[in-house]
Amino acid sequence: MTEKPGSNRGWHTETAAVHAGEFVDPATRASSPNLVMSVTFAPETVTGFSARDEQGYEGFVYGRVSSPNVSQLGAKLAALEGGEAALCFGSGVAAAHAVICGRLSCGDHLIVPDANYVGIAELARDTLPRFGIEASYVDVSRIEEVAAAIRPNTRMLWLETPANPTMKLCDIEALAKLAHDRGVRDVAVDSTYATPIATQPLKLGADFVVHSLTKYIGGHGDAMGGAVIGRKAELDALNLEATVHFGGVLSPFNAWLILRGAATLPIRMRAHEEAALKVARFLEEHPAVSRVFYPGLASHPQHELAERQMRNFSGMMTFQTKEAGPAIAARMVKDLEIIHYAVSLGHHRSLVYWIGTDDIQTSTFRHDPDQLRRYRDYAGDGVFRLSVGIENPDDLIADLARVL
Ligand SMILES: *Cc1c(COP(=O)(O)O)cnc(C)c1O
Repeated sequence: MTEKPGSNRGWHTETAAVHAGEFVDPATRASSPNLVMSVTFAPETVTGFSARDEQGYEGFVYGRVSSPNVSQLGAKLAALEGGEAALCFGSGVAAAHAVICGRLSCGDHLIVPDANYVGIAELARDTLPRFGIEASYVDVSRIEEVAAAIRPNTRMLWLETPANPTMKLCDIEALAKLAHDRGVRDVAVDSTYATPIATQPLKLGADFVVHSLTKYIGGHGDAMGGAVIGRKAELDALNLEATVHFGGVLSPFNAWLILRGAATLPIRMRAHEEAALKVARFLEEHPAVSRVFYPGLASHPQHELAERQMRNFSGMMTFQTKEAGPAIAARMVKDLEIIHYAVSLGHHRSLVYWIGTDDIQTSTFRHDPDQLRRYRDYAGDGVFRLSVGIENPDDLIADLARVL
């Protein structure tokens, strides 16, 4: 039972979610993981002082480099994604920053989606150019546009599927093959919406998977975190830079909470999907609703890809309304009784938020007019982003009916 965490013994997903990375504590025989808040650890033999000396050392030395609860969580995530290793960070954005800034250098070129998670879109737009890293914004659902954007110095293709907030998908397997064939070293996939229950990007050819643990994997809206999963050699190298030099590490308490949340990820995802499908069908039929984007509906423009790439359609959807969105949003703030009008997603609690097109185009995207027009064609004046929780879908439907 004290087998080193991280060993993936061929367990089924539900079993790995509960047991991977965990073990009976040899000192106390505790069945559940102990919370270990200690920042420093007393070595049994004299070790070096530099983090470089700690590489390969089996025990823990200092909390920024590794600590028990964080390493247990990493082992569980690696098992769930089918990866060799994982690194955890203080937020999803810290994980994205670690991969992007840990892997790219001045003079490198990066391809990012033309509409993806705003924090990462803004990192690419505002921060990376100051360090000499140029980004191209591409509709990654169109493989020929990605092919056309690759340059001799393109070192990373960043994907997100389904994308926040558009619900557009991209074909990870086809894009990873294209990128690698054309000499792009790294393919990284932000798989926060999909979770490893739906899609395992490493098995489709990606080099790195990034998660906001704040969302489905933690699942309860009470702990922020992020993770990167991939090959051990690359993550060991990244660990030196990203944790030792950047320092955006995960707190043991958050790791402990997220570890507990992750145990129920497979059953929660089934409940999210079941409720979301029912809510999506209700919205699609509702006279006040003009359009619903949910990968599990036949009406999703990429439903065929969703069926091929996602084993679970997740709980995320967007919808557009005939009445102006801000007026409905104002009613949601006042009149919703169950669903919270709030940002974030993937919690057991349902959440909804209005994302206006003017707002996102001025705050986040800085694209050419043709790309802005295409986003508007897709999203209209804006979309409601709905994260369907694990409540009874009939109650959620009654709540939505109240404000629509
Ligand atoms: C929320 C989110 C992030 C950022 O995660 P934080 O934990 O909030 O830093 C990144 N990508 C996607 C798709 C997200 O939804």
